[in-house]
Amino acid sequence: MAITAPRGTADILAPDILKWKYIEKKISEISSRFGYSEIRTPVFEHTELFERGVGDTTDVVQKEMYTFNDKGGRSITLRPEGTASVARAFLEHNIYAQPLPAKLCYNITCYRYEKPQAGRLREFHQFGAECYGTSDPTVDAEVISLAKTVLNELGIEKLTLNINSIGCPSCRAKYNEALKDYFRPYIEDGTLCGTCRERFDKNPLRILDCKSPVCGEIAKKAPVLLDYICDECRDHFEEVKKHLEAMGIEYNVDGTIVRGLDYYTKTVFEFKTALSGTAGTVCGGGRYDGLIEQLGGAATPGIGFAMGIERIILALEEAGAMPDLSDVPDIFIANIGEETKLFVTALTDKLRKAGVKCERDLCNRSLKAQMKYADKCGARFSMVIGGDEAEKKSATLKNMAVKEQTEVSLENLDELIKIVKE
Ligand code: ATP
Ligand code: MG
Repeated sequence: MAITAPRGTADILAPDILKWKYIEKKISEISSRFGYSEIRTPVFEHTELFERGVGDTTDVVQKEMYTFNDKGGRSITLRPEGTASVARAFLEHNIYAQPLPAKLCYNITCYRYEKPQAGRLREFHQFGAECYGTSDPTVDAEVISLAKTVLNELGIEKLTLNINSIGCPSCRAKYNEALKDYFRPYIEDGTLCGTCRERFDKNPLRILDCKSPVCGEIAKKAPVLLDYICDECRDHFEEVKKHLEAMGIEYNVDGTIVRGLDYYTKTVFEFKTALSGTAGTVCGGGRYDGLIEQLGGAATPGIGFAMGIERIILALEEAGAMPDLSDVPDIFIANIGEETKLFVTALTDKLRKAGVKCERDLCNRSLKAQMKYADKCGARFSMVIGGDEAEKKSATLKNMAVKEQTEVSLENLDELIKIVKE
């Protein structure tokens, strides 16, 4: 039986690859405009990093990780997200000793054992950004603006930004008690799922993020943290909102957002596109002032987000906003007969080195078949080299779209290059 790619993974083929390259280029340009520099971390990490960093009561850690023992008996996990790895690198390379804030971004594959569906894969791609070293509300607004700018400039105009504050450990302690009082009867009568019963003792906030419809329905009426927030967290949240307003960024305050990872504190946010269902949540992020400490470093505030590239593509296509992308040869150079092959080899090489996207026959085809191929691959210009052309060092350049012909020198290639690069 033929071997297929594992469930939940996808090969990216031409011409789709052009969409990916377009998105990656835009993202890289915008993140550098905002002062974020790229960081690359390994695909796999010690399992403990995610248990400690993401949190062992989260769905990601409990149900979704690709974890295995390597041949040395170490427990290894394919990264389910980027933030924990960036935080590890921040500590490991003493980035905290460099001028702060540290503004880092990444473009990575992530791995989660989930039920594959539209916009939900087992290997997927995330663009993320993280800013360490300041808890100032200006940076919360800045990262939200970075995410919005990326989505808008890619062409996603219909976006909803939902924000919330999930407070700090001090306001959360009070809130946890209120949550427990609310959920206790459902624990006692066995309505909540087994995982949530465990969460009830360890981290009741996680119950709000349970994907089971029964738990979800009960969670809808649970108390919201905003009603228990301390003065400092409230002031912080108010400042974030003012800075968003100063940039004309519209938002909804949604008290039910808690986010799926344990490290969040204060500001959390999500961007939704017009797509219905889970694929509509294109970006999620928030502040994680406790993460670096949780990983053994000195208390260092941080904030970041991650967006799913597959979901960006779905949204762009749904909105008809994916630009026409093509990657066609500037010129196809055909040859007549054996004798001119070497001439075409040298000519193609010179043109490529001068920046021209140049194709030639590699299959020993007849002239007619070569021209058919030139047409199929969408070459913008073509040229036929026979004995005469090779000898005279000049040939007829044909514009494939308008069928216009120009005689050009093959000795001095300047004119040829100028015409095909226009
Ligand atoms: P969801 O609620 O959809 O499972 P999440 O809260 O688990 O999302 P995050 O961990 O915040 O997602 O990841 C950030 C972004 O990465 C999401 O908003 C989404 O765009 C994308 N993403 C998350 N999981 C997947 C997946 N399995 N396949 C494709 N994209 C994903
Ligand atoms: Mg998820």
